[in-house]
Amino acid sequence: MIVLLAAAGAAALLLVPRRPVARLDRDANQNVLLITLDTLRADALSCYGGPAHTPNLDRLARDGVRFDFAHAQAVLTLPSHTSILTGLYPFQHGVRDNSGFRLAAGTPTMATILQSDGWATGAFVSGFPLNARFGLNAGFTVYNDDFGETAGPADFQLASRTADQVVPLAEHWIEQQQGRWFEWLHLFDAHAPYDPPPPFNREYAGRPYYGEVAFIDKELGPLFDRLRTLDRPTLVIVTGDHGEALGEHGEQTHGIFAYEPTLRIPLIVAQIDPGERDPRRGEVSDVGARHVDILPTVLDALKLSGPADLPGRTLLPAAQRQRGAAPRPSYFESMGPMLNRGWAPLEGVILGHEKYIDLPLPELYNLRTDPNEQNNLIDVAADATERRTLEHALSEFHADLPGARRTESPEVVAELQSLGYTSGSAPRKAQYTADDDPKRLIALDQEIHKAVDLYERHHLNQAIALYQQIVAQRPMSVAYQHLAFIYWESGQVGQAMATLHQAIQHGVRDHDIQVQLATYLSETGRPQDALPILEAVTKTRPDAVDALNALGIAQARLGRIKDAMGTFQRVLALDPADDMAMENMGSVYLGENDLVHAEDAFRKALQANPRSSTARSGLGVVELKTGRTAEAVADWRQAIALNPTNYDALYNLAAELVREGDAGVARPVVEQFVRTAPPSLYADDIRAFSAWLARTQGQP
Ligand SMILES: [Zn+2]
Repeated sequence: MIVLLAAAGAAALLLVPRRPVARLDRDANQNVLLITLDTLRADALSCYGGPAHTPNLDRLARDGVRFDFAHAQAVLTLPSHTSILTGLYPFQHGVRDNSGFRLAAGTPTMATILQSDGWATGAFVSGFPLNARFGLNAGFTVYNDDFGETAGPADFQLASRTADQVVPLAEHWIEQQQGRWFEWLHLFDAHAPYDPPPPFNREYAGRPYYGEVAFIDKELGPLFDRLRTLDRPTLVIVTGDHGEALGEHGEQTHGIFAYEPTLRIPLIVAQIDPGERDPRRGEVSDVGARHVDILPTVLDALKLSGPADLPGRTLLPAAQRQRGAAPRPSYFESMGPMLNRGWAPLEGVILGHEKYIDLPLPELYNLRTDPNEQNNLIDVAADATERRTLEHALSEFHADLPGARRTESPEVVAELQSLGYTSGSAPRKAQYTADDDPKRLIALDQEIHKAVDLYERHHLNQAIALYQQIVAQRPMSVAYQHLAFIYWESGQVGQAMATLHQAIQHGVRDHDIQVQLATYLSETGRPQDALPILEAVTKTRPDAVDALNALGIAQARLGRIKDAMGTFQRVLALDPADDMAMENMGSVYLGENDLVHAEDAFRKALQANPRSSTARSGLGVVELKTGRTAEAVADWRQAIALNPTNYDALYNLAAELVREGDAGVARPVVEQFVRTAPPSLYADDIRAFSAWLARTQGQP
């Protein structure tokens, strides 16, 4: 009887199918499609057990490997994407925040490596943090970032475009390729504000974030179908750059904490092979995977050797994907709060399922027993060994804080100090205390979200009052920037500049505050005051294109045309597709009445960014001056449609229509100008147009 039972047991064991292992072939003759889905929580997709219905991504996961325990190295768009493309940690590639940083030229990336090995390269990105000016365009023959413009440096809504606009462009580019290609497709839809189109707005009523995710999946379907018709296999990698907190731990969106809702990301690696008829059996791996492992994985799959000192490891061999593989420590950080608000910097490490967050109030979690990070084990005596192990693992990275590596010449520092500004690098404190810990300050983040919301619903006075309360509680760069921007937009120019001066008095003196103040000084007829600020900032940060553009404008306003052109050329040397520099050059040529060069510059700007309202408006001026009035009127109308706060275009259009003499056509445009243009900047024009409206009242 015993023998029989044993025999039956052995037979049963033999019948258990072996653990399916997805086929991921090493093949130099394949395409690569990297899809990054912005702000995608790991637990959003249905294949991860999430509430968004995502059949296309689920099918991809069934064809390949789905990593169930994958983490980002940062919680912001630009630093994360830089880690994905370079295979480096943020403290290695140096991009620590969405603004004020740019990938150093010459850094090898997935695009530069594959391009030099013969792959055609194309990128289609959908949100402002990935604009070519930040340097991720290196190595891409096509870098399509046409998503319009933001109104200013403190604009709250990031310029972006939706999946239905981008995926067809990405598909079209693939169709045009003859040889092997590498494409990077980035979709921004899941980023706030969440506003899914029908039917997803109804199907996901009350939880629109998941509606956006379902919409993205639907849009990706045709692209995956196209890959199945190609005559060459395609390696497909899908990941998120970071997640979204959705209120967990008191955080609304992302970019503050590094808890699992924002740090853990989905990661799917699959091969779409046109010859494969049988449905494959996918694999789920619970091995810790990291963003820095993606580049080594792609290089391994293509049989390429990359930079020797990459910190990541390939995820390709099945053995590497199975439980029991040696855990790889995963470094992570959140530097935005330090850089924009003066809060404590956040760094941490995941080792196995233990997670350590280094802050003035440190945290230790066991993610296996406490996946929601509710039970901080930092002071539990029984876990003292774990704490020491993790602290050691973190120290082994030798990660430095942003700004620490930047060497500044003594005369630059002295110059900045003489102006009352610090070096323009991170506003670091010598010592951060518990009062600087983001856990104690997260309520202020919620207040900022409330203020942004008030502004977006046009409750300007309430937004201003709330921001004043916020900066009274704690002086923070981002709050001062927003407050100054709201004053500026509502025509309270003096208040806008007073707010920025107040920030500087309170010790908030970073790059963004200085550039914003200098821009406002320039715009209000004080370029001589803007100039020394911008000269100092651009000496410290010679690659800051926003500061360079502002400097060129100030120089032009002071009549230093040659210097201005030289400054704009510096921008174009950093980013040949910087439409703002081209627009600025066009405006300077226009001021010099060099209409041929002005038109050329505006047209180049429109080529770089077809949705540029400024370039469209400038082109209209050239057309008017060269007798092409019908074209000028059409271009101004388009400029206003692209950006209703382009008051120069609105003024030009109104003036031309009044001159043409058809009061019925002119009146609505004149009325719009009088109603919306800020009186602090356009008082005389508003008065003149108001008089015209009174005069022509009752005329047909
Ligand atoms: Zn992002």
